[in-house]
Amino acid sequence: MDMNYIPTIGLEIHAELKTKSKMFCDSKNDSLETRPNVNVCPVCMGHPGTLPVANKEAIQKVLKIGLALNCSIPEFTKFDRKNYFYPDLPKGYQISQYDMPLCKQGHLEILGKKVGITRVHLEEDTARLVHPEKMNHSLVDFNRAGVPLMELVTEPDITSSKEASAFARELQTILRYLDVSSADMEKGQMRVEANVSVRPESKKELGTKVEVKNLNSFKAVESAIEFEIKRQTEVLESGGSISQETRGWDDAKNITVSQREKEEAHDYRYFPEPDLPPFRFSKKEIGELKKQIPELPQERRTRFMKSYKLSESEAEVFVQQKELGQYFEQVAEKLNDAKAVKLASNYILSDLLGLLEGKSVALEDFLVVPADFAKLMHLIHKGVISSAIAKQVLREMVATGKDPERIIKEKELSQVTDTKAIEEIAKDIILANAKAVEDYKKGKKTALQFLIGQMMAKTKGTASPEVAKKVLQKLLTR
Ligand code: ADP
Ligand code: MG
Repeated sequence: MDMNYIPTIGLEIHAELKTKSKMFCDSKNDSLETRPNVNVCPVCMGHPGTLPVANKEAIQKVLKIGLALNCSIPEFTKFDRKNYFYPDLPKGYQISQYDMPLCKQGHLEILGKKVGITRVHLEEDTARLVHPEKMNHSLVDFNRAGVPLMELVTEPDITSSKEASAFARELQTILRYLDVSSADMEKGQMRVEANVSVRPESKKELGTKVEVKNLNSFKAVESAIEFEIKRQTEVLESGGSISQETRGWDDAKNITVSQREKEEAHDYRYFPEPDLPPFRFSKKEIGELKKQIPELPQERRTRFMKSYKLSESEAEVFVQQKELGQYFEQVAEKLNDAKAVKLASNYILSDLLGLLEGKSVALEDFLVVPADFAKLMHLIHKGVISSAIAKQVLREMVATGKDPERIIKEKELSQVTDTKAIEEIAKDIILANAKAVEDYKKGKKTALQFLIGQMMAKTKGTASPEVAKKVLQKLLTR
């Protein structure tokens, strides 16, 4: 058989919310705590007789996520109990949401395509199980038990591994812009599960899906989906069928491994959580939250490209490094010339970023105020200093925070364009470099470059390269 197979992917993404306390108690929510079982209390340990109190901050954060993802926010919502038995679940049930999620029917555009969002709901995280090597027991760390957790489910609208990782990345950026989650996949603050199926091109109905877990990085998301598409296609090609199952991604071996077959649907015996009242939101409350939504990554991307004539990849640096983007905007505000603004983006994205990374200076400790950076751009733009000098000045500015004009004055760096002065130096250079002069006269053009280089060395880079070239050419052809 030689058929084309179309992949279909739907994502389920969990993100730990950044809140002061846990979802239903006042234990501290600290995803970076390394000592086990220090942020616990009778409520999140599931002791009998305790009662949950819902965390307002967490509810508002999920509502904001929904609003940012174009979801509708139902006026009425409630929590439900999802019952199952597992050592990471002290109460024997998880408080989650079943048929009335906080947010539903949204979408997120990625790579020019709208991916539907089925729902975004709020639940509590489970404890973390630790399996010490070579031991016949497991340990439970309850610091994570009861941490507010957002769950987002997409429609099966994604058709490639690239789209899937782009969706997850964009969601991560949005969560960070909203300041609702640190959403670091490597730290387990954001966890992605991918549902993958393939179907022959000729068939309309979707194939049987396989759910892949343990995806701890964007790379794992892509590799696991690619592996599944290939595996499932091969099974179907050879006449087999796909069984609905959960598979785990083995990062070391780069394969998915069957974890459990999906028997009949789980019976979680969902029912409304009797210890928490349902919630009603007024239009006014939702309107207030809407006002708190900042500019989102996609708006920022488009605005930066349009307002500052940046390429997509240039704009992306400012979208991902929001503070750097803010700095650039403060510099641009002080420059009223499009070319000078372009110059500023180039200097920030290459020279400044290089200097910051090399010396690992955080932008918050950065000594150069935007006005001074703008002044430097102005000096380059007006031809007062060359780009070689500008680099020196910038390095000095970053190190000392001094005003560029002061640095230029102190180090006598301003560009020399005075033909007379350059002629005097050129004469000395011609006398001292007889061999190069002879080469040039014999037609060796690179000799001129060498002589210009000598001029730059002698003037510590301050001679205007254009004037130096003209003057040397004139003297040499005499
Ligand atoms: P379940 O009831 O098994 O949890 P859902 O219908 O709730 O299944 O869907 C769970 C996730 O799987 C969603 O992200 C959805 O988009 C995705 N999905 C559903 N059907 C398919 C399919 N045939 N192929 C790939 N993904 C699918
Ligand atoms: Mg489901």
